[in-house]
Amino acid sequence: MDCIFCKIAKGEISSYKVYEDSKTLAFLDIAPVNNGHILVIPKKHYKNIEDISEEELYVAIKTVKKIGKALKKSLNILGYNVNINNNPIAGQIIPHIHFHIIPRYKNDGLKLWKQGKYKNKEIEKIQNKIQKYFNNK
Ligand code: AMP
Ligand code: ZN
Repeated sequence: MDCIFCKIAKGEISSYKVYEDSKTLAFLDIAPVNNGHILVIPKKHYKNIEDISEEELYVAIKTVKKIGKALKKSLNILGYNVNINNNPIAGQIIPHIHFHIIPRYKNDGLKLWKQGKYKNKEIEKIQNKIQKYFNNK
């Protein structure tokens, strides 16, 4: 399969690796949102959070936790954002699941998404739809 992150995991394409174990790899994003922006991937190919097993996801999030701690200590930051863009509509460009870990610096100007307000009974309608899904499962 022609997947750039599979190639990075196999060492066929070079990356700025910062951590590796038997199942996961962490490397610097080449187009960082902030300095030290890291991508954590499972070495095996899974498209997204729906595709990956709970066990493999657990292994990957353990690496995310390790990287977060390492960034705090090594880059002297106080926090970071952890993000998965899941499916193209959500901005996923590379179809191999990856966690973005984005260090946050004081006054870095990074804005998170805009938040809005629900109109009328919209919030209850949406709640009902989602609850119905769980009740019919
Ligand atoms: P996403 O939009 O969530 O699929 O994110 C893909 C990320 O991969 C982007 O932030 C890219 O900058 C990053 N990226 C693409 N190719 C490479 C590469 N060869 N090495 C490191 N990061 C990459
Ligand atoms: Zn892949």
